[in-house]
Amino acid sequence: MQSERGRPLGSALSSNASQIALRMISQSVLSDEGELLGLLRQRVREAIAYRRRLVPADAEAYRLIFSEADGLPGLIVDRYRQILSLQTLTQAMDRADIKEVAIAELLEQFASEAVSSVVQRVDPRIRELEQLPPAPSRLLRGEETATVYAINGIRFHYDGLSGQKTGAFLDQRENYAAAQRYAHGSALDVFCYQGGFALHLARKCDSVTALDSSRPALEVAEQNEALNPGRPSIEWMEGNAFDFLKDSATAGREYDTIVLDPPAFAKSRRNLETALRGYKELNLRALRMLRRGGVLVTCSCSYHVSDADFLDMLRSAAADIHRNVRLLEHRGQAQDHPTVLGIPETHYLKCVICSV
Ligand code: SAH
Repeated sequence: MQSERGRPLGSALSSNASQIALRMISQSVLSDEGELLGLLRQRVREAIAYRRRLVPADAEAYRLIFSEADGLPGLIVDRYRQILSLQTLTQAMDRADIKEVAIAELLEQFASEAVSSVVQRVDPRIRELEQLPPAPSRLLRGEETATVYAINGIRFHYDGLSGQKTGAFLDQRENYAAAQRYAHGSALDVFCYQGGFALHLARKCDSVTALDSSRPALEVAEQNEALNPGRPSIEWMEGNAFDFLKDSATAGREYDTIVLDPPAFAKSRRNLETALRGYKELNLRALRMLRRGGVLVTCSCSYHVSDADFLDMLRSAAADIHRNVRLLEHRGQAQDHPTVLGIPETHYLKCVICSV
């Protein structure tokens, strides 16, 4: 890449299909493909070294490579105990030689730990956007596609080739532990997916109700609960969160701890206003149902909703119902999903914990 005056700006990976035509890979000019592959290997080693310093030993699942945040735009790798789960989001990262080099370096670095298998997970929509031929999710190395892993001492199932689009929400690992610190009494986990928050709440609470609209997610949640016996049993409910919260409020139900972790409402900047209305409706209803001294853990994974937007929404919800809300913690994504200053897109998760 060159400036208008012909000054070299660095090297980028290109795509002839994506709206993002170029993704910077280096500020120097790479002379050939060999140098590119060498640089990729080095970035993989650096990403692993960073996790080895930061991720606690009891976390058996964490993000190893987070695309731009690790200087590897378009590549995501998660570790679930002995399985590495890889996603390629761009034409360049999906190139066979590039993928091979990344996998070889990963396996070399983990040779002494029992990492035995590599699975590639495919999001058909992304392949379409990059005009890549359709391909199934599949096993690339080793034999195992499913496992059980622990985070914060709680065990979860992982199935790398199941129909579910995602694995776990590893970006919430540290927020699960934070939520657990404040949780008490009767708890409600709205948008519970496979039970990430609910299982943590169950360690501290007398009762836990958890709601999601996805039957397959709830089935895994129940299997996860069975892996962690000896706590109050969780009531898993299938339903629409908005309807459930409305009906619960009408029925006068109250809780001491509520977690809200909805899917991204703002998929683009254009629907920011609608998204904020959605967040406000949820948070308003949750605040109303909390007993005095209750705790709200409220999240947004929409990149387009800024920290300031999210806090404003919450402030206005609290004001509408005249409740005094104290901020306990203002959190983001776990450290294995690094936020890079200068790449705003790397910060997307908001998690606010407050006392009502
Ligand atoms: N808290 C979870 C992640 C939640 S992801 C964890 O930490 O693992 C968002 C979840 O919201 C998904 O499981 C999806 O099935 C669910 N969902 C989406 N729309 C919903 C709705 N209207 N009502 C209830 N659940 C919904």
